[in-house]
Amino acid sequence: MAAYFPAQASDIEAARQAALDAYAIVDSGPERAFDDIVRLAVMLCGVSAASISLIDRDRVWFKAQVGVDQSQVSRDLSLCNHAIDQPGRTLVIDDLDLDPIPAAKRRRLGGRPPRFYAGVPLLSPDGHPLGTLSVADVEPRHLTSAQVEGLELLARQTQHLLELRRLMLEQGQQLSAREAAARHAEQARAELQRRHEELLRSATRDPLTGLLNRAAMEEMLAETLTRDPSERTPYTLLLLDIDHFKLVNDVHGHLAGDQALRAVADAVTESIRKSDIAVRFGGEEILVYLPGSALDGAAEVAYRIRERVAHAPLPFAVTVSIGIAAGDPRRDLPEQTFDRADQALYRAKAGGRDRVAVDDTPRFISIDPD
Ligand code: GH3
Ligand code: MG
Ligand code: MG
Repeated sequence: MAAYFPAQASDIEAARQAALDAYAIVDSGPERAFDDIVRLAVMLCGVSAASISLIDRDRVWFKAQVGVDQSQVSRDLSLCNHAIDQPGRTLVIDDLDLDPIPAAKRRRLGGRPPRFYAGVPLLSPDGHPLGTLSVADVEPRHLTSAQVEGLELLARQTQHLLELRRLMLEQGQQLSAREAAARHAEQARAELQRRHEELLRSATRDPLTGLLNRAAMEEMLAETLTRDPSERTPYTLLLLDIDHFKLVNDVHGHLAGDQALRAVADAVTESIRKSDIAVRFGGEEILVYLPGSALDGAAEVAYRIRERVAHAPLPFAVTVSIGIAAGDPRRDLPEQTFDRADQALYRAKAGGRDRVAVDDTPRFISIDPD
């Protein structure tokens, strides 16, 4: 035979307290809807005091009150605590002086102890008593059955208000959970984007100098070539090569050579516009594409680079040679312009290095119509 264990009183009380906590109402501010109910209760029963009392652990706290001196009372001294002893029933005591409940003496109404008390238990949907809607007076009273019924109707309205509050609270929590999930998703998306960009960057950049690599340049060139030639703007190419770089490596070591290479790349980056593109073209050769620039503008950029390289923060001197050529996408191929820049660079080297040489090859053959 299965043994029957009655539920522990402490378990029942814990479940009741949890039910009340779900409303998060204790210690909340006054609310018009609850205030209206206690005012209606006073009018309906013709008494001096009414309250919506909620039983919280060791105290009874009033959500709304009329004519009651305190905002809360100790639970073991509260009439409300007695009213929930029989959760389904309204407790009415016409004259507390004739009743043995000592707590009656503790609640003060306008400085005097109450003589009359009636309390309707307020229940959660699953039957946990949360508190009462109660009326009281300093004189003995008797409520008609219509008044008791009216008080019970008001208690039901109070329960509806409480339920509404709990549902709104739940909705708010669901909403913030959804918002948190959306925030989380956005963070994950941003992280993915960052990694994608990083990957793209590492695939297109030379790790030593931070300049674009040759593969990226070829991709860009291919993309430019797909455009209508009439939309492509004239440009200049600037081809730079570090002078006697083998010697730099031999004398100062390969690491110092790397440092010099970085310094030259920085000098280039600092000397060009955002719309210009610098590429690490070979070991210590840098190619710069200057869209919309003519030879004289490009020469200025080249001199700026030379100047910056001369003042680079290095423990030894480094110089560069630069060849410049102009290209017009409507007339010549990029390879032809590159060849002319390369020839100009060769002349700069042959001329003694540490200098800028501008392309001087004739580009147009003018045919006289006569
Ligand atoms: P020139 O003035 O004629 O250009 O003489 P150079 O010594 O610079 O000759 P060249 O351009 O042929 O030499 C390129 C040298 O650059 C050879 C190689 O050791 C060095 N080099 C290429 N890439 C790197 C690099 O990433 N780091 C270092 N430290 N050296 C590099
Ligand atoms: Mg070289
Ligand atoms: Mg060199």
